[in-house]
Amino acid sequence: MRHPCLSCGACCAHYRVSMHWMETDAGGGVVPLASTEPFGGHQVAMRGTWEAQPRCVALDARIGQYSRCTIHPRRPTACRDVAASWENGAASPQCDRARLAHGLPALTAADWALVYVVHVDAISTGDEPPFESLASAHHAPARA
Ligand code: SF4
Ligand code: SF4
Repeated sequence: MRHPCLSCGACCAHYRVSMHWMETDAGGGVVPLASTEPFGGHQVAMRGTWEAQPRCVALDARIGQYSRCTIHPRRPTACRDVAASWENGAASPQCDRARLAHGLPALTAADWALVYVVHVDAISTGDEPPFESLASAHHAPARA
């Protein structure tokens, strides 16, 4: 089993992702300004996440099947801050809510045990990149 976020994407299609404009490349940060829209005051939001049915413009996914963030190295802090449930040994209410909203079951500790076992096997055969490169493929929004 691969990293659960790579077959999910629910949080990127559930929450509004907002940030201070200085997090964008127009303010010295890394988030592409072109991927954001004004959100009032000094805030901007990732385009698409401020809709009645949120879906981030940077998301390439079929929710529940495959998912990737097309600006992953430049994603907002808010996205970096949300862990997938049990990835770090604790439940993540934001992850759980997003998955449930998309009809997916909340992750459990057992899901990660399977990820680690399969990953170690894949590394030994050279089929899998380092786990660190897969982790946090999601992007977990903040969600102001
Ligand atoms: S953090 Fe949770 S909701 Fe977001 S992509 Fe990963 S598994 Fe899905
Ligand atoms: S990680 Fe953040 S920037 Fe990337 S697709 Fe998800 S919500 Fe958008």
